[in-house]
Amino acid sequence: MKTFFKIVILLFLFLCTFSQNVFAEDVYKVTSFNYDTSNSFILLTVPDTIPEPVLESVKFVKMENPTRAYFDINSSILTVPKQDWSFTSNGLKQVIVSQNSTNPNIVRTVMYFDDDYDLSKIHFYRIKNNIFIQLKDTTITNDYFQNTYRDDHASSSDFYEYLTMTAPEESPTDIANEIHEAFASKNTSKKELKLNTKYYIDKITAKQNAVLLNGFGAITIEKPMILTNPSRIVYDIPNTLVRGDIRNTEYSIGTNETVKIGQFSVNKARIVITTEDVKKYIPVISSDNQSLLIANYDKINSFNLFSNVSNMLSYSHEKIDAQTNSMTLAFTSPIVHGINRENDQLTVYLYNVENYNEADFQAAFKDTPFAAASISLIPKIGLKLTMPLEQNSLVNTFLGADGKALKIIIKTPKKQQPAIAVQPITPTVTTPKPEGKGIKKVVIDAGHGGSDYGAIRDNINEKDITLDVARQVRDLLVKKGYVVQMTRDSDEYVSLQDRVAISENFKPDIFVSIHVNSSTGTEASGIETHYYHQESIFLAQTLHASLVSAIDTKNRGLFKSKFYVINHTTVPAILMEIGFISNSQERAELNGSARKKATAKAIVEGVENYFDQIK
Ligand SMILES: [Zn+2]
Repeated sequence: MKTFFKIVILLFLFLCTFSQNVFAEDVYKVTSFNYDTSNSFILLTVPDTIPEPVLESVKFVKMENPTRAYFDINSSILTVPKQDWSFTSNGLKQVIVSQNSTNPNIVRTVMYFDDDYDLSKIHFYRIKNNIFIQLKDTTITNDYFQNTYRDDHASSSDFYEYLTMTAPEESPTDIANEIHEAFASKNTSKKELKLNTKYYIDKITAKQNAVLLNGFGAITIEKPMILTNPSRIVYDIPNTLVRGDIRNTEYSIGTNETVKIGQFSVNKARIVITTEDVKKYIPVISSDNQSLLIANYDKINSFNLFSNVSNMLSYSHEKIDAQTNSMTLAFTSPIVHGINRENDQLTVYLYNVENYNEADFQAAFKDTPFAAASISLIPKIGLKLTMPLEQNSLVNTFLGADGKALKIIIKTPKKQQPAIAVQPITPTVTTPKPEGKGIKKVVIDAGHGGSDYGAIRDNINEKDITLDVARQVRDLLVKKGYVVQMTRDSDEYVSLQDRVAISENFKPDIFVSIHVNSSTGTEASGIETHYYHQESIFLAQTLHASLVSAIDTKNRGLFKSKFYVINHTTVPAILMEIGFISNSQERAELNGSARKKATAKAIVEGVENYFDQIK
């Protein structure tokens, strides 16, 4: 229980004005709720249209027997079904948001806690147009930030950790029921779901060279993946649910350009834009962090993106640890920002920012890792911030809860111990490849072998499937001009230590281990890709995306796992579980030639995509 204590919830309430005065006074619509597991407080975000007195009237009331607390929002109606969330492991047991039964003009939020929970730890704050309910001792200041962009991809294993939700049996429009319909077996009417959704996509609008997503909660978008045949760019939005009836419809957004959104996995949305201009599509995030425009940046009409202009007010740098630094920019009004993450450079467009102070900006970052960052004003666009990045840096951007601050956090990879000479370190130095002329070296590791059979079902052995696929991968790569080293090329036993030694001696660019999964049950199926080191994430993403798009089975996602061969190798290294031997249908496929051939081909295409993109 204690381990989860830090993990409480973040709740968004999105209120907007009711256009008609049905009642004597103004009535505000409470249209949605969302939450996150990473913070120690509940946050309600309310737009500026709510007048001060309404917000001032929100009071927090604590009660005992049972231990609970509640607050009311007056003059408001709930336009979504009653919300009822159950929690199992963080002191907070349940949150109910409903229209008050005795006074129908009130939306009431009640939180139930464990009996021994100390209610005195809870504090209630209002900061600008945000309401915070602090559930443990953390300092809440004006600088609460929401993650808007991240380079690393959330693992689907992040999902089953802390929240549970029970779906009501009726009300088909309920979000919980919708999740059930999408993911649970159809006949379980009241199954407990574990849920970690902080954004709900309600609407998709296709535009010329752009797509607009509207929803509620808070968006975090992940680094895009660029795929070929056909040329497309793929954006994942973690912790997100897509409304059922807008999934998987293809919209035209231009000549030979289409967009489609799907529920990629249980807690991840995926947007696929098919276009030849993959490099030009960037995400643009609204100032309330609830709408997302993905658009060709050459064709954005920036004036449609905002209604107010903003100026840059202040600039600051913070060193978080040896590898990690942050840049924080503050503005006079909420900002609309776009992010273009290229391999060696980050560009942030601040569409409604009109002024900044060049001297102050340079002075703030002069002796920091952001010294090479530059800023410029572009007519009809706004402000453009550019900074060079070291290869394999991890970028995260955060928007202040009031929309008036942007924080950019850059984590650079740990330096390898230099073997011989030391190069002078400047922000743009990258590690040179061990060989020239673009010839890439790949280690293919066929799992198990010899006396180590791996998983066995029905006289079918993991070691035979992995060797067969590994050989096909090798042959295809060699044909394409790669230099390939196998850790084994026959049915022999090779220890994990020897596999690592073979790879280290060969000094490859990447290491790919091929395994077949198994489970004690017979239901599980699908593909998983495992990585361990930060430097391996992009390799994992790229090969995984290629494999799951080629093979018709479940996408089980990426996992950070401490497997020996991917933990002890020093180059980007991944371990792919290409299917389940314990599932009779998948076993038959894995044992057949078509699936093996398609798997090898997809892995090779993934390798090609990987090297194309890190160039
Ligand atoms: Zn294995």
